[in-house]
Amino acid sequence: MSDLDFSHDQLPGRIVFGAGRRSETPGELASLGASRVLIIGGSHDTATIDDLVSQLHMPVETIIGVRPHVPAAVVRAALDVVDSFEPNTVLTIGGGSSTGLAKMVALERDVALLAIPTTYAGSEMTPIWGTSDGGAKKTGRSLRVLPSTVIYDPELTVGLPREVTVNSACNALAHCVEAMWLPDTSPITIEGAVVAIKAIVDAVEDVADRLDDIEARSRLLYGAHRAGSVLATAGTGLLHKTAHVLGGMFDLDHGAMYAVLTPHVVAHQLSAMPDIHQRFHDALGPDPAEALHALIDRLAAPSSLADIGFPADRFDEAAEAIAEHADVDLEEVEPVLTAAAQPATETA
Ligand code: NAD
Repeated sequence: MSDLDFSHDQLPGRIVFGAGRRSETPGELASLGASRVLIIGGSHDTATIDDLVSQLHMPVETIIGVRPHVPAAVVRAALDVVDSFEPNTVLTIGGGSSTGLAKMVALERDVALLAIPTTYAGSEMTPIWGTSDGGAKKTGRSLRVLPSTVIYDPELTVGLPREVTVNSACNALAHCVEAMWLPDTSPITIEGAVVAIKAIVDAVEDVADRLDDIEARSRLLYGAHRAGSVLATAGTGLLHKTAHVLGGMFDLDHGAMYAVLTPHVVAHQLSAMPDIHQRFHDALGPDPAEALHALIDRLAAPSSLADIGFPADRFDEAAEAIAEHADVDLEEVEPVLTAAAQPATETA
């Protein structure tokens, strides 16, 4: 198929990007017609939230403390707050877990959404929602959950620990690499993926070396923003679906799973679809899988599922669940999972 034969959904949304630009939040809320605001954030965001609340001259309610994978019970508790406070706008500050909870509120109730992300997960750019219940993760798409405005302020990311920074950047990279082969991709999405991969690869080692370097943090956050847009239009395939299944079954760290899985799934996909090689070239050179392995190595990020809590004795069960969820043959999943589950000392 020619690359110039495609469909592409251009998604709406306003982006405000720059160091210190969180100070523009009151004006951005006013543009959305906010008159009662619910703020959802993580416990590390309380200082930023207190500061914001002091600037908002309207009724404000807060939900502080979110949980990974947006458990259904946390969503129900948030909806109780919404039903008694009746906000017309939800403001979320934090990582994908904060954004994820705000999205579930927007899915279930009529509210505008403004997101201020503090990690590199990219959820703020997508119409994808997700929640977990009893070890299973459920996801879907709805424009209701796409934030109307996103404010990126790299100053809010300097407190992100090195490990979370690196793993979250790997999550962003995963959005981009998977866009190279998914059926819903387009030249527009692929161009965005190349820009995002270059920005992330260019910045992540600088940030890992100097966590408070605002200029490097800005470049990494820009890459993450573009990566989120890529995920929004390309959707998800074997790579993301493997992480969703493993996250739901074993509560493994989201970003760490992508650090491990991404090079292996890219290697598998390149052998199955050699035509996609050239799409990677500008971003990762002639051997994309090796480039990713080397990057993970230099960052000292996790390189084996064995090191992040994957139980080897549940390999078969996990492989079957992934094959079912990703709608691929078990024979396709097993080699990738075997490579990713091998203890790092054996792959070195
Ligand atoms: P997260 O929100 O759980 O944050 C990761 C860690 O970083 C947490 O410990 C958090 O407390 C900490 N943290 C966040 N901001 C901080 C700051 N400014 N300073 C210090 N610490 C900070 O995880 P995440 O990696 O951002 O997001 C992962 C979640 O997002 C997963 O549930 C994933 O499924 C979801 N996600 C959804 C989409 C989507 O499009 N729907 C896209 C990507 C990720």
